[in-house]
Amino acid sequence: MKIAVLPGDGIGPEIVDEAVRVLKVLDLPLEMEFAAVGGAAYEASGHPLPAATLKLAQDADAVLFGAVGDWKYDKLDRPLRPEQAILGLRKELGLFANFRPAVCYPELVHASSLKPELVAGLDILIIRELTGDIYFGQPRGRRTAVDGHFPGSEEAFDTMRYSRPEIERIAHVAFQAARKRGKRVTSVDKANVLETFQFWKDVMIEVGAQYPDVELDHMYVDNAAMQLVKAPKRFDVVVTGNMFGDILSDAAAMLTGSIGMLPSASLDKNNKGLYEPSHGSAPDIAGKGIANPLATILSAAMMLKFSLNQPEAATRIESAVAAVLAQGLRTPDIWSEGTQKVGTREMGDAVVAAITKTIKS
Ligand code: NAD
Repeated sequence: MKIAVLPGDGIGPEIVDEAVRVLKVLDLPLEMEFAAVGGAAYEASGHPLPAATLKLAQDADAVLFGAVGDWKYDKLDRPLRPEQAILGLRKELGLFANFRPAVCYPELVHASSLKPELVAGLDILIIRELTGDIYFGQPRGRRTAVDGHFPGSEEAFDTMRYSRPEIERIAHVAFQAARKRGKRVTSVDKANVLETFQFWKDVMIEVGAQYPDVELDHMYVDNAAMQLVKAPKRFDVVVTGNMFGDILSDAAAMLTGSIGMLPSASLDKNNKGLYEPSHGSAPDIAGKGIANPLATILSAAMMLKFSLNQPEAATRIESAVAAVLAQGLRTPDIWSEGTQKVGTREMGDAVVAAITKTIKS
């Protein structure tokens, strides 16, 4: 099983290191090959997604990705910015379905920004469409306005669009995922204002008719944002477009205690995937050895489950993460009074030790 490992920028290399150590201790036939991506690749070769890195990702069975980006690259032309690497990988690998589970571990209910009773037992899955919507829609750019409120002035514009097959395939992914969970799908849209999302809603209803065992409801994105912080446990599977999903999944991250706890998987139609933490490169804490590696370690577990057909090894990682949290170990982002503050490496060590213990016993 060949894994392309792309650590990236900021805390990327620190957290990916820990996930790689965890994968190695599982003693599986994994071949891991590293390549530069994002700002690191731009520094080395002048492009955030060099052809060699893309080829490695294309040839691998799965991609383990850290994070890309740093404020220092904000002045670069957009195609050269580090974030273009992840957008490019999603597009080139056809990764249209992004899974972001938000699970609140019992030990972390007090690290959540919400009251413990609102998040205890939380287990929701946000499925975000990843290759369409306003992030990829053409045309886009800057021009002189010919109409609108200020004709003749400079303006910028993007295009929101979804085609029927794009909505249908993400709908099937959501309904099939719901079948393995609580059998409920909430489709989040803005059908009251946007034509694109009225179409989204119509197609969701059509596809939903093929899954009579799954309950489908619809929610406007503004209400969904409110419900996520008011009564998050009401959700099971949430399916939405690229931009709404981007925003809602970060909000859901805080429910779990920290964005440092949230893994993600981005899958193509054959379940080949790219696995990465839901957070970014956190330049504010890079190099300090304090980043939480658990989101990346849990992303590696998702990789074993979804792309490499190793569900037992995935469960071993998940149980080890639960065990170190139960031991009271916490990186600063999830630390609270009475628990033991540890750094990135110590947290990785503890997960490795917990796995080693289960292998021996
Ligand atoms: P961010 O997720 O990097 O950081 C937001 C906050 O969360 C920061 O305070 C950070 O310290 C904290 N944080 C994030 N991950 C953490 C972890 N593992 N442990 C502890 N704390 C953690 O988002 P941002 O600050 O908006 O963006 C920083 C850079 O990352 C930007 O260049 C942005 O474009 C990029 N970014 C990349 C990705 C990606 O690679 N997929 C995703 C989002 C943002």
